[in-house]
Amino acid sequence: MARTSTERRWPWIAAALVAALWPASVAARAPRQVFACEPEWAALVREVGGGGVVAFSATHARQDPHHIEARPALVARLRTAQLVVCTGAELEVGWMPVLLRQANNAAVQPGQSGHIDVADYFELVDKPARLDRAMGDVHAAGNPHLHLDPRVIRVAAGLVAQRMMAVDPERSEAYRAGLARFEARWDIALANWERRSAPLIGARVASHHKNFSYLWRWLGMSEVATLEPLPGVPPGAGQLAALVTSLPRLGVEGVVHAAFENDRAARFVAERTSLPLILLPYTVRGSGKAADLFGLFDDTIDRLLESLRPTR
Ligand SMILES: [Zn+2]
Repeated sequence: MARTSTERRWPWIAAALVAALWPASVAARAPRQVFACEPEWAALVREVGGGGVVAFSATHARQDPHHIEARPALVARLRTAQLVVCTGAELEVGWMPVLLRQANNAAVQPGQSGHIDVADYFELVDKPARLDRAMGDVHAAGNPHLHLDPRVIRVAAGLVAQRMMAVDPERSEAYRAGLARFEARWDIALANWERRSAPLIGARVASHHKNFSYLWRWLGMSEVATLEPLPGVPPGAGQLAALVTSLPRLGVEGVVHAAFENDRAARFVAERTSLPLILLPYTVRGSGKAADLFGLFDDTIDRLLESLRPTR
């Protein structure tokens, strides 16, 4: 009797064991879902994570990352993510907290190993000395647009790899190798960009928004004016007219805007001052050549050289 009972019970125990082990083994083999807030971080995750990850970006290159709608499709993506990679420093303050609340995914909340705000790891520029949010300054925590310094990207790659190892330890070796491969390629590209961009050192530009402060710092260029009177506040007609007078006196050599921005103000000023209007891709897929992070910096430097070198 006892033997029969054990025999009868055994398939159930075996089935229970399989049920307990199967989801874990399947999950271990399935790629990790990474939710990136911006295309540059999704691209970086793909560089380091390779086939071990599926990276989704909440915004695309033609969207303003300061302002997007917290759509249900984004909530669904966030709910199944194992890792979140965002810029932080309040860039996504208008939409990411809503998504995080609605997705109710404990593993990717700020402070967890499944959540990276890249800006937390860097000293930010443009910190307002005196903050008046009522005036509309969207950079209360300092300038969040730090991905356009390729040295930041290199450090962020290490961070991404470390967190991917934490959320997917079985693939640690693959992530370590992916990071090493990326760093080796990036260091060669970085040396090349610094050599090619040497003629840009000292160039003076005006930008629509403070999207490029870290890029100028890295390239040794200076932004002597922005078209926006405060970050996030569009210029009025009087301000634009004043810029038409002041920019040539300030020695400005070009007027820059990001691909996702409306170019009306920048075009107005450039045309009336006869300064080159310079569109920069800003992020991955912001131009045809910016197909990945390498293309983003290649194309950014090409466009700056093309517009600014003739005057230097
Ligand atoms: Zn901004």
